[in-house]
Amino acid sequence: MQLIYGFLLAIIIAFLAYRAHSLNKSGALAATITGTIIFGVGGWPWAILLLTFFITSSGLSRAFKKRKQGLDEKYSKGHERDAGQVFGNGGIAALFALLHGFFPDALWPWLGFSASLAAVNADTWATELGVLNPHPPRMITDLRKVVEKGTSGGVSIVGTLAAVGGSAIISILALLLNPAVTPAFCLLLTASGLAGSLFDSLLGATVQAIYFCPRDQKETERHPLHLCGTETVHIRGWKWLTNDWVNFACGLAGAILTLLIYALLVIQY
Ligand SMILES: [Zn+2]
Repeated sequence: MQLIYGFLLAIIIAFLAYRAHSLNKSGALAATITGTIIFGVGGWPWAILLLTFFITSSGLSRAFKKRKQGLDEKYSKGHERDAGQVFGNGGIAALFALLHGFFPDALWPWLGFSASLAAVNADTWATELGVLNPHPPRMITDLRKVVEKGTSGGVSIVGTLAAVGGSAIISILALLLNPAVTPAFCLLLTASGLAGSLFDSLLGATVQAIYFCPRDQKETERHPLHLCGTETVHIRGWKWLTNDWVNFACGLAGAILTLLIYALLVIQY
């Protein structure tokens, strides 16, 4: 029965997001699938965490539009999220919701779920709020190297603080919504979320596929075509490692870190 309610809630939210141009058609379909699993198997606490991520990230991607002018040409996609982005950000979370269905009394599926959402939320907040940094970002692999705003792998003080905030809000909700989560676990989740988003930046600086627009003489994630319509040329990174896979790795890294430390604690005591 909960699955049916989950499906109804998911389809209503996906439809509203589609109407608000936060999701395109494939994104709305992907959100209905992910949402049905998470709401349907997990129930309200799981739904609240997912919706916190979804609503704050959609909201922030609309905020500060003036400051973000000119950045769209760098990011692989626009504001309407597609299926790749939905599964990239929510795929790991949906997997842990399924695992919760098989292990309903265990704490670890909730911790893995929360950590993966903390990581992708940290990454989204950092990307969307990092543009407010007064100075241009620096490369995470070489902090002396100043790069243009929006460059994959670029980090800044404001962006990092935003990542801590994005991770903390999910972690605090994870604490409030599940009595088995202690304040120490809340800290662990926050740290894991931040670590996941830094891992995302590290991949962006090293192995993520990056292209170049010969017409604008600019680096971009966009391929095959730049916003100007010119075909972009591959300059570095693994061609298969798109931004969606980097987001997926960000959520996975957060979950693995939390669960490794949790496993060590469980073995210890
Ligand atoms: Zn161009």
